[in-house]
Amino acid sequence: MKPEYIVVGGGVVGCAVAYGLLKAGHKVTVLDGGDSAHRASRGNFGLVWLSSKGLDAPHYAAWTRRSINLWRNLADELEELTGDNLNLVQQGGYDFHFCEQEMAAKVRQYEALREQLGTDHPYEIWDRERLLAEEPEIGPEVVGAIYGPEDGHVNPLKLLRTYIAAIQSIGGKVVAGVNVVDASKDSSGRFEVLLEDGTRYHSDKVILSAGLGAATLGPKLGFVAPVSAQKGQVLITEKLPPNKLKRPSGIIRQVDEGGIQIGDSKENQGLDDSDTLEVTAAIAERAIAVYPFLAQTKLVRSWGSIRIISPDGVPIYQQSKTNQGAYLVSCHSGITLAAAHSYLLPYWLEGAVDAPDLELFSEDRF
Ligand SMILES: Cc1cc2nc3c(=O)[nH]c(=O)nc-3n(C[C@H](O)[C@H](O)[C@H](O)COP(=O)(O)OP(=O)(O)OC[C@H]3O[C@@H](n4cnc5c(N)ncnc54)[C@H](O)[C@@H]3O)c2cc1C
Repeated sequence: MKPEYIVVGGGVVGCAVAYGLLKAGHKVTVLDGGDSAHRASRGNFGLVWLSSKGLDAPHYAAWTRRSINLWRNLADELEELTGDNLNLVQQGGYDFHFCEQEMAAKVRQYEALREQLGTDHPYEIWDRERLLAEEPEIGPEVVGAIYGPEDGHVNPLKLLRTYIAAIQSIGGKVVAGVNVVDASKDSSGRFEVLLEDGTRYHSDKVILSAGLGAATLGPKLGFVAPVSAQKGQVLITEKLPPNKLKRPSGIIRQVDEGGIQIGDSKENQGLDDSDTLEVTAAIAERAIAVYPFLAQTKLVRSWGSIRIISPDGVPIYQQSKTNQGAYLVSCHSGITLAAAHSYLLPYWLEGAVDAPDLELFSEDRF
């Protein structure tokens, strides 16, 4: 019999791992919080993105690229299982620049990364003329872009919904609206996971993928779990005709329903996820500098959402030293890494011979 798992946290990270474990033949129960929890998986930007990742952490860049390359397969599989369309598009993306010197400095970082990786880590330098041929609406202040041929985007809400449907369709259990307050090993060596209402669940192994909730639950299982909150504010405009923007960038993309999504603020405001005029105005101003037509486009919605960030921004994959069989899985960029979490992480959890080497992602680095 394969070990049975409880996954604490049913955001995109927990769901990705749960789905992968179910496919590998494990019995899996996902325990997820309610609407009052902070849930990055419901407020993010939807990029499936390689560019700029791991510029000073080559192992993270390589891990991200493995995920990117598995993403088409993941989308096809989830769509086939559920009949949903995730609207995954992987046709490249831009990192826009307003200053030649800043762009050159970024390119030097890419060159250094390529050297460290010893591979053709993909990027192209596009000057303004090259960019205009693809995106004629670009504003006069944009000097060029670093083009990432493997970058793309997806509908992140459909991803989460589809994961949950797929998990249930292949025999997994998702229990939503529950609050895990403790987890420990019982006298038989199995894990006992306690809910606030007194209900107990038992399993051979536990994955802690509770987003910000890991900071509280982690120490109970022997993890440091040094995750902190970073707010991002996001705007969305009225719907525009398709292909108004040919490709996404790290700060602006046209979503599958037609609206232009604008974002990428980074604020350390604790757990305050409110949106503010000051920041949304700054985000909008920068977006208009990239695409001036946005000044005439109606804004329909804005929101704030909290990222889960480790001290160096790189994922944490850690087996507990005091409670063997408990694992902490935490990352920023959980959309991008979903394919790696579904297809590769289960091998690591099971200690398979061909498991990815995730030693450098351990908590020991802090
Ligand atoms: C503004 C913004 C933009 C982003 N853009 C991108 C992007 O473009 N691309 C990308 O790849 N990533 C992006 N991210 C990051 C991405 O959204 C996160 O990495 C990902 O959603 C994290 O998923 P998670 O499952 O770890 O956390 P969450 O989505 O926060 O889920 C954690 C879950 O754990 C549950 N939980 C917590 N504590 C408990 C408890 N005690 N008991 C039971 N359940 C519990 C909560 O209810 C919650 O559902 C963005 C994030 C933000 C905020």
